[in-house]
Amino acid sequence: MTNKPIDCEKALNILYDYLDRELGVHDHEAMEHHLSVCKSCFSRVEFEQRLKDKMKSLREERPATGSSERIKQLLKDL
Ligand SMILES: [Zn+2]
Repeated sequence: MTNKPIDCEKALNILYDYLDRELGVHDHEAMEHHLSVCKSCFSRVEFEQRLKDKMKSLREERPATGSSERIKQLLKDL
């Protein structure tokens, strides 16, 4: 297997696909490898993952009024 390493630019490019698990197996592995060696991208992925989870639970809770205020609150907690 020849996984060519990816750089930070590429990693950020595919970050959202990675989180949505929409990457092909090679890109996925390359991304995981990059995250294991690159702390800044790892933190970035963690942040996006947490944001995504918060947004998801927010939508599931109640999509009703005052949601932008709640989002601001949630972002403050991150
Ligand atoms: Zn990186």
